[in-house]
Amino acid sequence: MTFANIVGHDRQKDLLRRALKSRRLPHAYLFEGPEGVGKRLMALALTRAVFCREKRGCGDCAACRKVDHHNHPDLHFIEADGSQIKIEQVRALQKELSYRPLEADKKVCIVDDADKLNPAAGNALLKTLEEPRDNTLIVLLSSRPDMLLSTIRSRCQRLPFSRIERKRLLEVLCEQLDLDETEAHILASLAEGSFKKALGKDRELFVRTRRELLRTLTGLTSGSVLPLLEFAEKLAQDKDVLPDIIEIFQSFYRDLLLYRHGRSQDELVNIDLLNKIHRVSNAESTSSILGKLTALDAVGRQLTRNVNRQLAVEVLLLRLVA
Ligand SMILES: [Zn+2]
Repeated sequence: MTFANIVGHDRQKDLLRRALKSRRLPHAYLFEGPEGVGKRLMALALTRAVFCREKRGCGDCAACRKVDHHNHPDLHFIEADGSQIKIEQVRALQKELSYRPLEADKKVCIVDDADKLNPAAGNALLKTLEEPRDNTLIVLLSSRPDMLLSTIRSRCQRLPFSRIERKRLLEVLCEQLDLDETEAHILASLAEGSFKKALGKDRELFVRTRRELLRTLTGLTSGSVLPLLEFAEKLAQDKDVLPDIIEIFQSFYRDLLLYRHGRSQDELVNIDLLNKIHRVSNAESTSSILGKLTALDAVGRQLTRNVNRQLAVEVLLLRLVA
């Protein structure tokens, strides 16, 4: 993985390249931004450039290849063990960092999902950050930097990452997946700038299952109690998929809103359902659509807490068919 292979994030690449060139790398970085946009790939590209014999991440030298195969002796990873990063993991790292690098000038440590450091582990890592060594580079990755100790954040040079532009994502999807233009457009829109979402498990859901879900949703009426309850039960089954289903519903109501206001087709997500969008938007008003979007947003937030999923979805559906 080189900087050139990474799609987007040109400003971040530029900044890292300049820091490398002027030999002004900080002791610690915090790469922060949404999940799945390429923070980890960027950390690996940076590592490769640091270790590379040619000092640019050539991809051919032994050092570059070892980074690619995750077996460079001076590269250390910390990832959550279960739901947390534990203090034993940080202690083991500290022990490693107390030795001199074996093959490179520096040791690099990448801490993935750094927001999962539990309090003890966070405090232990803070000590390492407070006593930086010149031969150590620590890169923390986080999609929820506000969950980190503020003292950890302030010890790192922060590098924010944003979502990949829809247009860039669309290009990559068309290149890498066998999708027609309509499908690629829908997938790129729903993935919200996350490669992980576009290329991962959500692909089938976003491209195909979505049509079925929206057909069922728009077929319900406030009088159809039994089908509504059955649909709610089906949606509530899988707690990992439900947030994505809520996103699909949100995309549909946002489309209705944009359509009502005469926005171009490019701005819509569900462009394979234009007839349905036309039909449903005629039956709604701007304020009724806004009300439904608010209800979806509220349920989306409830789901991050410990709620009765089925009940929450039933209430939501009743609100959406009203
Ligand atoms: Zn190299």
